[in-house]
Amino acid sequence: MSPKLPVLLRDRLGRLLESLRLSVTDRCNLRCLYCMPEEDYVWLPRQELLSFEELVRLVDIFTGQGVTHLRLTGGEPLLRQNLDRLVGMLAQNSRIADLALTTNGVLFADKAEPLKRAGLGRVTISLDTLRPERFRQMTRRDEHQRVLSAFDAARRAGFTGTKLDAVIMRGENDDELTDLIEFGRSNGVEVRFIEYMDVLGATKWSMSKVVARDEMLQRLEERYGKIRPVAETSSAPASRFLLPDGTVFGIIASTTSPFCRTCDRSRITADGMWYRCLYATNGTDLRKLLRGGTANASASREAADAEIANVIAEGWRGREDRGAEERAGRNDRGALIAIEELRRDPHLEMHTRGG
Ligand code: SF4
Repeated sequence: MSPKLPVLLRDRLGRLLESLRLSVTDRCNLRCLYCMPEEDYVWLPRQELLSFEELVRLVDIFTGQGVTHLRLTGGEPLLRQNLDRLVGMLAQNSRIADLALTTNGVLFADKAEPLKRAGLGRVTISLDTLRPERFRQMTRRDEHQRVLSAFDAARRAGFTGTKLDAVIMRGENDDELTDLIEFGRSNGVEVRFIEYMDVLGATKWSMSKVVARDEMLQRLEERYGKIRPVAETSSAPASRFLLPDGTVFGIIASTTSPFCRTCDRSRITADGMWYRCLYATNGTDLRKLLRGGTANASASREAADAEIANVIAEGWRGREDRGAEERAGRNDRGALIAIEELRRDPHLEMHTRGG
């Protein structure tokens, strides 16, 4: 029997609840300048992280509310032990049309096959530079070779549609746009350049370090000739472009050309806080509800799930977040949240939201 079609939940701007980014850990094995520029961090207590069973239950409720695209994130998701087991459990949910993972690639080579076998559909690997010494500079870790081997491992495991995400920072790696395109082309992966964002945790952010989409396109046109936009309507964050030889690449221009109007994404932290926008400072504690905090604590699991579904439906219907758009309109743009605030509540950190 085909699963009952879920209601299509729209927020106040008519945006559907379709894509969910699920963080499975806030820990990371890199310290990227644009995400974790500080020396010390306050981590989520391990005992407060949702178990695999709780994550699967929550995803089940969200897919019942219309979510069809699920992306596993972190921190670095592969730091969560036995992630392939979670993937296998999630892959049983026939309402998930797209089960994807974003990884920094350091641990991916050893886990590609088991993740593929478990049912993972797609993978995005973050790589901001092709130069080992610059990698050390930008991540404060010496893992460049392992990240490079992740692309081979993805191909060998049979993944298709693999993407390479590179955050471009002026004066750091903005002279590698064409090198990364060439790397993508020779490895059969689609490159997406990401504008440096003043999101949570980016305590060192400044507009002077941002290379805007238009500038990236202009530089690439100098090298490749006329670049055409790919004609498509999608809620995906990247605008996609075609080089004269047909190579496709993307640019995620959240800082200079926000795309909040089509944003169907929300995020859950590894301890169950639900945020309806990357810039949101208030979230909903779903773990409390999962662990018996519903109005009728003695209610059956079904009743509790129905109550959680209502909380999600109400939360989404009331959503009008346009974080990046609001930021784009400000002249006094600097780092979004002060370090003391981040220390007080690690949920305000980018690596806790999974980007
Ligand atoms: S800033 Fe918020 S509303 Fe805008 S695209 Fe990002 S998550 Fe969506």
